Amino acid sequence: MAVTTERQYGLFIDGELVDQQSGEVRELTEPATGDPLAHVALAGESDVDRAVEAARVAVDGPWGKTPPTERSRLLHALADAMAANRKELAELEVRNVGKAISSVKAELNQGVENFRFYASAIASIAGRSNPLGGSLLFYSLKEPVGVAAQIVPWNYPLMMTTWKLAPALAAGCAVVLKPDPATPLTALRLAELAAEVGFPPGAVNIVPGDGPTTGAYLVRHPGVDKIAFTGSTRTGSEIMRLASSPLKRITLELGGKSPNLVFADANLGDAIPSSVWAIYYSAGQSCEARSRVLVEQSIYDDFVSEFAAKTEQLRVGDPLDPETQVGSLISSAHRDKVHGFVEQGRAEGAEVVTGGDVGDGKGAFYRPTVLAKVDNSMSVAQEEIFGPVVTVIPFEDEKDAIRIANDVRYGLMATVWTGDPARGHRLASRIKAGEIAINTPYTAFPGIPFGGYKQSGFGRELGLETLDLYLETKSVLVGTGAKPFNPFGL
Ligand code: NAD
Repeated sequence: MAVTTERQYGLFIDGELVDQQSGEVRELTEPATGDPLAHVALAGESDVDRAVEAARVAVDGPWGKTPPTERSRLLHALADAMAANRKELAELEVRNVGKAISSVKAELNQGVENFRFYASAIASIAGRSNPLGGSLLFYSLKEPVGVAAQIVPWNYPLMMTTWKLAPALAAGCAVVLKPDPATPLTALRLAELAAEVGFPPGAVNIVPGDGPTTGAYLVRHPGVDKIAFTGSTRTGSEIMRLASSPLKRITLELGGKSPNLVFADANLGDAIPSSVWAIYYSAGQSCEARSRVLVEQSIYDDFVSEFAAKTEQLRVGDPLDPETQVGSLISSAHRDKVHGFVEQGRAEGAEVVTGGDVGDGKGAFYRPTVLAKVDNSMSVAQEEIFGPVVTVIPFEDEKDAIRIANDVRYGLMATVWTGDPARGHRLASRIKAGEIAINTPYTAFPGIPFGGYKQSGFGRELGLETLDLYLETKSVLVGTGAKPFNPFGL
């Protein structure tokens, strides 16, 4: 299927694309050009009801009892279908989100691998049996939690959808996934592919809609058993409140303000360009963007000028051009928000070494920006800017570096650059974050648990332990003795 602009997309409920009953139809434009892209149906309350009902029927019916080997086969088939349709999915994502196709291709590859990882992992998940002795036998069963409501943000719509769908479907749950209303296209296409490869009706439902209305209704829905949310910390708090009655299991993948520590003994030939990548890929719109670069005082000035020089070499532009490294932001409203942070940083005393201005062409572009002379207490060092803006902060020694790294409400990840392996491991144990990367800018891989400490949330995705979040453990106790128990001796 070719990517078409001006197409109308429906909701995906009970195995097919359908019109909305109670929501509206909204026009989407391409962030990089401002041109019309498509019309999407948004789900209203009765549409969410339909989707939850379809999911309930699926999970209480044959889908919930499908053997793991069959679920594994279907997940591999979906990975194959995703790979076979990679060109279409990539273009759709680029046009919808505005990010560079080079990034989207990598995200797509990871999405394929996510399905494969959980397809393999589910085969080794089983209950257990402990010797209890006497005339008692115990064993446990793993059963799907039920209907999982999954809410994803706009920054990685396709990849986040695979992060969410893969473990839930592997576990045998049925899913109602709500993408951000601005970026629902690839999730809808993936649901079509899931149906084509044989996932039964109701196993995957996609209901694009606004957060405070459709999203909140889904979270409160009594037919939902589990919520998996990725988004801002503020919305995460609200989700936690909404999910409390009736009580639901929740996992929250939230924001970050991750540090990137560079010691003077590091291999700067790698640390500097890799640190540039670690903030500017996906135009800085990443939860794990290393947006606070902490640099040892003795190399601070040289580091800043070299980092800024490399930043100026980045190829910013048409996201569909394979040479582009930084595309547009999601919208001009978001770009203005990012610029507002930079202005605030300037007012607080930060020095704008490069960038700091809005591009002059069409589209929501923002020049990659370096802020130096930043103190960790400034708003630009504490707030998640979620754009191509880095703050460079000096530190005195290892103790000072750890103090600054932890002096933030978030704890999603940290990167450490050092030539001293022992120091790398010391920092790994002292920085409060869900992941520490030593001498590499990379972060998320299928099989490596990803998630937050502190206000970055709780629960892990991408790991084996994620499956447990979609499974209940049922204990079965069996009396096997020949003599009766009759504890009261009646
Ligand atoms: P957001 O919290 O505004 O929205 C995220 C999703 O929640 C959207 O689908 C939105 O429609 C929905 N939503 C909003 N209000 C809701 C409500 N009251 N009830 C139910 N749903 C609601 O976040 P955003 O600006 O779209 O995304 C960026 C944020 O996501 C950043 O903070 C980023 O760090 C975070 N993020 C985290 C991870 C991670 O894995 N930790 C990954 C990607 C993004």
